[in-house]
Amino acid sequence: MQNILNAGFVQGMVKVTSDMWLKGWDERNGGNVSLRLLPEEVSAFRADFYPEPRCIELSQPVPALAGDWFIVTGSGKFFRNVQLDPADCLALLQVDDSGLAYKIHWGLCHGGLPTSELAAHFQSHSVRKQLSQGADRVIMHCHATHFMALSYVVNLDPARFTRLLWEGSTECLVVFPEGVGILPWMVPGTDAIGQATADAMTKHSLVMWPFHGVFGAGPTLDETFGLIDTAEKASEVVVKVLSMGGIRQSITTEQLMELAERFDVRPWQAALQAERSDVA
Ligand code: 13P
Ligand code: ZN
Repeated sequence: MQNILNAGFVQGMVKVTSDMWLKGWDERNGGNVSLRLLPEEVSAFRADFYPEPRCIELSQPVPALAGDWFIVTGSGKFFRNVQLDPADCLALLQVDDSGLAYKIHWGLCHGGLPTSELAAHFQSHSVRKQLSQGADRVIMHCHATHFMALSYVVNLDPARFTRLLWEGSTECLVVFPEGVGILPWMVPGTDAIGQATADAMTKHSLVMWPFHGVFGAGPTLDETFGLIDTAEKASEVVVKVLSMGGIRQSITTEQLMELAERFDVRPWQAALQAERSDVA
């Protein structure tokens, strides 16, 4: 039997949380990550599981995730510390067959709970799992600096904001053709923001929580990190451009359509036709 600390999914969580910390997206305990695992990925590590796993009821049922395994970051855990003590900062859990509760089989070795945004993660996983026919396995939340900075100054219509980011860097339309959903400001850590995030995830792989951060969905930790990194990079460019006096020339609608054709993506039509967000 292998040590679970060497498992690809634990090492993957360590790398992504460390990278996110280094990016400056996760001050203190900011941010949370969840990765859905297949039973065969988990079974090799059963020797490291707790003999009596803690069972915790969910505040909102997740029938679409019944029986599914996840590794998630713990609530209140600092991303910069995950690499130092993954067994304390992460939790391996399985949703029960009814989708009403879960058991913690490994991790959180000094106690504590999975992320307070578990509702947003689980409701979003439910949506994305179905939408992608099982391909999407990661939900990632962080406080990406420039992305959230933009929420204070630009028009928050989702199509117009998407258009702004698509113009912020040539790769954006190719990396997130589905565009960015935007919630109203809501209290974090609640079922309500979880439901609203999942609703937005039916159309978009990226969701903005204004004045807070971003949620991203994708098939792997690498892809989801790359997705947020791309949106954040474009946001940084836009912040700098606005700080230099604003956009004087940019990518045109025709050029965005040429990009879509060359890279065989179907861009969100509303964003393609929208005027980019101006500074409110
Ligand atoms: P947790 O520490 O509970 O994951 O919360 C961090 C966060 O970013 C809340 O939105
Ligand atoms: Zn947050």
